[in-house]
Amino acid sequence: MLVFMPIFFILCLFSYWVYTQDISVTNSLIHAVIETKPSIVVDLLSFPYLMFMLLLVALLVVIGWVFKKIPFKGNLPFFTISLASISTFFLIENIRPNTLKSRLPYSVIYGVTEYYKKVDYVFNSVPETITALKDSLNIVLVLGESVRADHLQLNGYAKETTPYLVRNKNVVSYSNIYTPHTYTGSSLPRILTDASVDTNNLNNITSIFDVFNRSGYYTIWIGNQELEKSYKSIVDTNNKVLLIDSLRSVYSFRKALDEQLLKPFKNSVNEAKARGLYTLHMMGSHWWYENRYPESIRQFRPVINSKHIPSLNGEDIINSYDNTVVYLDHLINEIIKILQDCNVPSILIYLSDHGEILGENGKWLHAQNDEASRNPAMFVWYSNRFKEIYPLKVEALSNNNYNHYTTDILYYSLLDLIEIKGLNYDNTQSIFTKK
Ligand SMILES: [Zn+2]
Repeated sequence: MLVFMPIFFILCLFSYWVYTQDISVTNSLIHAVIETKPSIVVDLLSFPYLMFMLLLVALLVVIGWVFKKIPFKGNLPFFTISLASISTFFLIENIRPNTLKSRLPYSVIYGVTEYYKKVDYVFNSVPETITALKDSLNIVLVLGESVRADHLQLNGYAKETTPYLVRNKNVVSYSNIYTPHTYTGSSLPRILTDASVDTNNLNNITSIFDVFNRSGYYTIWIGNQELEKSYKSIVDTNNKVLLIDSLRSVYSFRKALDEQLLKPFKNSVNEAKARGLYTLHMMGSHWWYENRYPESIRQFRPVINSKHIPSLNGEDIINSYDNTVVYLDHLINEIIKILQDCNVPSILIYLSDHGEILGENGKWLHAQNDEASRNPAMFVWYSNRFKEIYPLKVEALSNNNYNHYTTDILYYSLLDLIEIKGLNYDNTQSIFTKK
């Protein structure tokens, strides 16, 4: 009873948030619960929540009273019930992974173990002696999600998915980018560090943000995705990390749209740091596509109306997917407007973490072995001021765009872009150096 009561109480406290606020219990939430500041805790206490706690205490008193009335005192019946529920968990998880793991009460236990299991990479320390461009410069790295290169009108796709990008003279598309890593958790650690797509060894890696911080650049991560264990510690090397929708349930239908990244981005650009690397991590074109864009963007119809892929028409799935690309085009245009308003030489690099399978070999979505998901979209936009100051970089950028690269080029191109000195890197892998 002494064990049961506090566990029951704590699990019920979680359940309140899960059912009223639509949040999911993950290791990030456990992280937040364990490491949060007292002032935030006070902000979370509401009158209904306090009433809920009181009710819980009353319920526990009743349970305790009933328990005392039970004539037998052996633990065998409870032991049997516990054993049965624990073994059902493993049995069901084996048949259909994640069936119970993300649901209460298992999610709390799972979240706590994940929290204490967090992987921490060994990061190479960046020499204090490195130097870089001292001029003011805004670099925006937009990390896309599941956007494949061949569905961009910019790359010759027949449907008008990127009307803004096509009209913009300062946009260069890189249509031959390759990654064998077809899911976010595996792809991002290699994009954001010097680790190659060819390696499985992620020890002794250098975070791109560490290099930028050391060079006097302000770094901020503004994300619309939960940080996964595999790249959280890399993201944490930013000066600031801002998640716009961090506690929303993975089962929620009300996830934030990527346009909510714009306001915090605009605010941080306007705080006018002389040199900054702003990383915007989108939800992009992740399944379920209909949740990724507002209705006003719906160019292609009919669209999907169910999540059960086998019952859907392939053309409808592709229409929905293409609408998410139209939305991306619109958002990139909005980001460009913000950059143009602030008068600092600016450059935007968009790279999707991987592509998406859209019916090839009868398959859909990603994280499977299929070529269709290995060619992520990438393009670069530069401001007129940037072109005036760095004509050679723009020339190289425009000459290299048909080359075949892996996503490894992002790290080297960013280093080359700010002309890092004092740190060895391979500038033949940079899109800003002429081949
Ligand atoms: Zn992804």
